Amino acid sequence: MTRNLNKCAFFDRDGVLNKDKGYISKIEDFKIFQNVGEALYECNKNKFLVIIITNQSGVGRGLISLSQLNNIHLFLKKKIKRQNAKINDIFFCPYHPTAGIGKYKRKSIDRKPSPGMIVKAIKKWKIDPNQSFMIGDKVTDRVAAKSSGLKFFYKSKKINLHKQIKKIIKYYK
Ligand SMILES: [Mg+2]
Repeated sequence: MTRNLNKCAFFDRDGVLNKDKGYISKIEDFKIFQNVGEALYECNKNKFLVIIITNQSGVGRGLISLSQLNNIHLFLKKKIKRQNAKINDIFFCPYHPTAGIGKYKRKSIDRKPSPGMIVKAIKKWKIDPNQSFMIGDKVTDRVAAKSSGLKFFYKSKKINLHKQIKKIIKYYK
């Protein structure tokens, strides 16, 4: 019965919600795009869960500590709260098959383009992929989304994220 399942808007992080500046460890380097709070609130308002799916091999490479990553995510949540927006969950993959250090050097089903993080999110949050979508900026996002049964959209270069979300959500009504 699909009626008990949730719909969800999945987002890649870097290049979608914030400027992709490579391995971001400092809050000063974490620049959130305009209208992100409004965009995420639009999802909340329309009963879409908001879940971030992000590769963070900088952790495994020893460039970002887990507490730095956590602080960045707390900062993001705090910023979007100004627009009453809420992120329900964040999944990140710290591993890298060749550049990871120690326990972080391994292949992982979680690392996009593999769909592990999305599959876990779908299970944890009881999500119906058919009523859900993902926005990303790389082909690896697209591959991960598609193999999880999600519709996928590249982040628009013409319109801001809020406008894009409004357009996408229209299709679901
Ligand atoms: Mg990206």
